[in-house]
Amino acid sequence: MRIVDVRTAVVAYHGQATLVRIDTDEGLTGFGEANPDAGAAGVVGLINSMKELLVGEDPRDVERCWEKLRRRVFAGPQAGVYVIALSGIELALWDLAGKAAGQPVHRLLGGKFRDRIRLYADCGDGDDPAGSVAGCVDRAQRMVEEGFTAIKFDIDDLNHPAKFDAFNHTVNASELRSMVERVGAVRDAIGPDVDLAIDLHARYDVPSACRIAWELEPFNLMWLEEPVPAENVDALVRVRAQTRTPICAGENLYLRWGFRELLEKGAVDVIEPDVPKCGGLAEAKKIANLAEMHYVPFAPHLVSTPLGTMATVHQCAAIPNFYVQEWHALDEREVWDSYVVAPDTSGSIVKDGYITLPETPGIGVELDMDGVRKHAVPGFGIFE
Ligand code: MG
Repeated sequence: MRIVDVRTAVVAYHGQATLVRIDTDEGLTGFGEANPDAGAAGVVGLINSMKELLVGEDPRDVERCWEKLRRRVFAGPQAGVYVIALSGIELALWDLAGKAAGQPVHRLLGGKFRDRIRLYADCGDGDDPAGSVAGCVDRAQRMVEEGFTAIKFDIDDLNHPAKFDAFNHTVNASELRSMVERVGAVRDAIGPDVDLAIDLHARYDVPSACRIAWELEPFNLMWLEEPVPAENVDALVRVRAQTRTPICAGENLYLRWGFRELLEKGAVDVIEPDVPKCGGLAEAKKIANLAEMHYVPFAPHLVSTPLGTMATVHQCAAIPNFYVQEWHALDEREVWDSYVVAPDTSGSIVKDGYITLPETPGIGVELDMDGVRKHAVPGFGIFE
């Protein structure tokens, strides 16, 4: 079996999600997805430039194809949009390898530890566009009623009226009070037994991150995410050493080498690689194994369509130290559901806060081309 073509489509989801299609000379087709954070133009351009290195390769040699691209396309920076493009291709290769073998991808990754994947609902700023505490409480209660056993909220408010400075990374007393009020109200609403994570989006300096972490200690957080920017691991070590609140980071790191220092220095209690961003399924498994060596749980960040989401489910099934997987579609639920053919009449692959592991060959979702066409981003073409 040989690769004959690599094509892309770009759809609106969390910005611009790049879908990857790889065709073979035997008529089999695989689909993958690259994380949307970088914007589609760079990702599509890079994937197009990688195509000639893939044509003629056997797609079942997933890691060989991946390594070939990594070594021959990237002479230098192995992060950012380069790795995001590589990730999208890698997911499509696994889909093809699974379809060729007649096996679900998790079987090719070593088999499954579990039959369904626990999700946490990313609740953002809640149901109220103004981000009120009442809107957060409403969304939290709604998610728990829907069956979610874990949720996450954002508390970093760039537009907080009490902010003194648009560029410094320092939290002031009024901002801190708003943060505590939001987290406290949500914790009261969901009770003590639902897991609650809080995201700071890498916006604070060390003393501010510590003050926030201390103030949130009474709320028994599942984790506090990215309290400081991602570039300086030692700063994160200092934050973690000063609080009982568990610290999580990793969505802005790439490849296994990007996670090495984080784990070796004991900077985190939980890691959150983004599978369609950090290098793909096999790379995320290697990162998870590295985390396992340090007894650190794996809770992937994820902002992808159901295709990238389901690919991640296979990887989460195939590692022992899986914790919980992000689900970020609350504000775009209808659009999110429209991208794939639902497994039953429910209309969604997400049920009761879980995704059931597919047992069909490949990644196990079928793109709904009506949904893809309806939400395609103009100017990119649809697998042309
Ligand atoms: Mg985050």
